Amino acid sequence: MTQSPSRPTRVAVLGASGRMGAAACAAVEEAEDLELVARIGRGDPLDAVAAAGAEVAIDLTVPSATGENVHWLVEHGIHAVVGTTGWTEESLGELRARLEGTDGVGVLIAPNFAIGAVLAMRFAEIAARYYESAEIIEMHHPNKLDAPSGTATHTAAAIARGRAAAGLGPVPDATEKDPAGARGAVVDGIHVHAVRQRGLVAHEVVQFGGVGEQFTLRHDSFDRISFMPGVLLGVREVAAHPGLTVGLDGFMDLG
Ligand code: NAP
Repeated sequence: MTQSPSRPTRVAVLGASGRMGAAACAAVEEAEDLELVARIGRGDPLDAVAAAGAEVAIDLTVPSATGENVHWLVEHGIHAVVGTTGWTEESLGELRARLEGTDGVGVLIAPNFAIGAVLAMRFAEIAARYYESAEIIEMHHPNKLDAPSGTATHTAAAIARGRAAAGLGPVPDATEKDPAGARGAVVDGIHVHAVRQRGLVAHEVVQFGGVGEQFTLRHDSFDRISFMPGVLLGVREVAAHPGLTVGLDGFMDLG
């Protein structure tokens, strides 16, 4: 679907009354090059998205609904920008296969829309090759349902890629007894510690250690508004990226 630069791109928001959805509606309404044409909540028919002439839909719903929503959007030729968690390798594979039969529809699945968090993941992959030790501490509000966070899982995978590229083996750790799990979860060989605390929003610390040295990367989202520049970047770029893109970095020139 081509978009004329002379008129705003028509955007629908799914999950419009949720915390992220409401912020996305406000961000789209404030953007001069975008027009909010549909606010979809639980129980609203998806036909309203097509009836409103939406070219791009933002999905910020719940893990149990997002798969069906996105397949429906793809079937109707509507580009999708998805922040909802719950996507697995299996469901991503099914979506990729579904997209192969379509003519130019783009889908972005973004585990984290915060630009700084995306940069932290990239920087972590670069730093990983130079340090013997690496651990991740992710900190979130206590209403979060899953642990470790998707961002921490992706950061661990990025660190593992960096270490593998440099030929590094396992991180040094002499722990033999840990009956209470004090060393945290292990994701792709990297220890991940999850903190749940009132007052927090979404925070990540990546700590690298070498002999006589520590290097720390830290990103803090203090408010959901921090995700909106990434959401808008996704909306503006998704039509130019047919097929499936996983991670906002796919739309950023990070070298
Ligand atoms: P939330 O406040 O619970 O909002 C979810 C909204 O979706 C609710 O209003 C819910 O309605 C609605 N909904 C449920 N099923 C629906 C359906 N089939 N169609 C349309 N709307 C439906 O959650 P949130 O904090 O906004 O987060 C939304 C999602 O974004 C979560 O998966 C969260 O993990 C993710 N998230 C992603 C990022 C990122 O950067 N990628 C950042 C923050 C959060 P009801 O209230 O009636 O159930």
